[in-house]
Amino acid sequence: SNELKIAVGAMEIADKVVKDVMTKIEDVFMLPDTTILNAKTVMEIVKMGYTRIPVYQYGDKNNVTDMLFVKDLALLDPDDNFTVKTVCGYHKHPVKFVMNDTPLPHLLEAFKKGEGHLAMVKRLINTDDGHDPSYELVGVVTLEDIVEEILQAE
Ligand code: ATP
Ligand code: ATP
Repeated sequence: SNELKIAVGAMEIADKVVKDVMTKIEDVFMLPDTTILNAKTVMEIVKMGYTRIPVYQYGDKNNVTDMLFVKDLALLDPDDNFTVKTVCGYHKHPVKFVMNDTPLPHLLEAFKKGEGHLAMVKRLINTDDGHDPSYELVGVVTLEDIVEEILQAE
């Protein structure tokens, strides 16, 4: 039955971690903060079909500083030529981060508590030299990715 499949799927996510279900960074549609929001770029962004778009500091894709919501573009006058940075500074949607090895049940709890249902996924880069650890972004994960994993159980 479908109910049984969903129950089995819910149990199966207990053994899975964020990197098993995330969208890999090379497939993530992100924008540099310097992008000018004119009629052409707004149309390109809307056509991608995503609701939430990570925004990185120009020149450093590893440094995601903001989220742009496509709905933020609705009241924009394209002739004003605002940058993504200006529009994000107005809305200030928080950016969430999660480690790539976080168990899915933990992420599900975090999504239930919080407002946003998208997190940037980061990976610890090994530093054997005793210096501060550093991170790199490896993907995005959304509530949808967890739900998909639950529903696709055999
Ligand atoms: P919503 O369904 O809330 O309107 P959405 O369709 O943009 O949002 P989700 O439904 O949350 O996004 O996720 C659908 C899939 O798209 C997931 O696999 C998620 O990882 C991926 N995804 C979400 N945002 C992006 C993005 N900016 N670039 C690439 N993939 C994304
Ligand atoms: P908070 O603890 O407030 O939720 P966070 O978990 O997003 O914040 P921090 O705890 O401040 O982040 O820092 C943990 C590490 O995450 C930092 O050392 C940094 O390498 C990485 N990090 C934080 N912000 C970003 C960002 N905008 N882009 C890429 N990596 C980031």
